[in-house]
Amino acid sequence: MQILADNLAGVRSRIADACSRSGRRPEDVTLVAVTKTVSVEIARHLYELGIRDFAENRPQSLWEKQPQLPPDVRWHMIGHLQTNKLRRTLPLFSILHSLDRWSLATALDAELQRIGRRLPVAIEVNLTEEEAKHGFSRTEVIEIYPRLMQISAFDVQGLMTMARQEDDIQRCRPTFAALRELREDLVRQHPGGPKLAMLSMGMSGDFEVAIEEGATHIRVGSALFEGIGA
Ligand SMILES: *Cc1c(COP(=O)(O)O)cnc(C)c1O
Repeated sequence: MQILADNLAGVRSRIADACSRSGRRPEDVTLVAVTKTVSVEIARHLYELGIRDFAENRPQSLWEKQPQLPPDVRWHMIGHLQTNKLRRTLPLFSILHSLDRWSLATALDAELQRIGRRLPVAIEVNLTEEEAKHGFSRTEVIEIYPRLMQISAFDVQGLMTMARQEDDIQRCRPTFAALRELREDLVRQHPGGPKLAMLSMGMSGDFEVAIEEGATHIRVGSALFEGIGA
């Protein structure tokens, strides 16, 4: 598993460089390993290399992997969560990055009340307005945020977005900056509300720019698993 260790070292050094360029501390950026393309065995190796934050984008993958990794793993759900899979999936993850629609909020609220739990969530914002992407538009977030704040089963920690895929990653910068500015607007408009400290943005191809724009959580898959196979 030397390749995995090398890939991880490479990602960590890219994080360190982006932090030093932007006057940030590497410990303020959480590397979330997205294991959707690899087996449980490879995820376990990554655990052995010290990673504790893991993410999946499909409920079924959480059902498979969560029971097979040690219990101190923090699982992040980062994909579209169907409401008919809530009951089975909710016990398996610690935080939801992809609160992407109002109907999910109400279904989650009901289930969280039933089991007596609070859930850390980030609101997914579709800033590039691509059809294939989930999430609220900027306008929708501003409109719906006061209602999300009222849901006592939620601990609203911040915002999540995905940039458009670009050959020149500098072109992702305006999207990441827009998420940070949206956070600032929401906090200013609701002074007694959540601080929204969490900005989940940046993937293998663009996380340096996301870090420079304030990402606290980067979601990285392919850069960790290059050259490994499943
Ligand atoms: C797959 C995925 C990632 C990781 O993408 P890579 O380009 O492989 O790093 C990040 N976020 C979400 C929501 C994903 O589905």
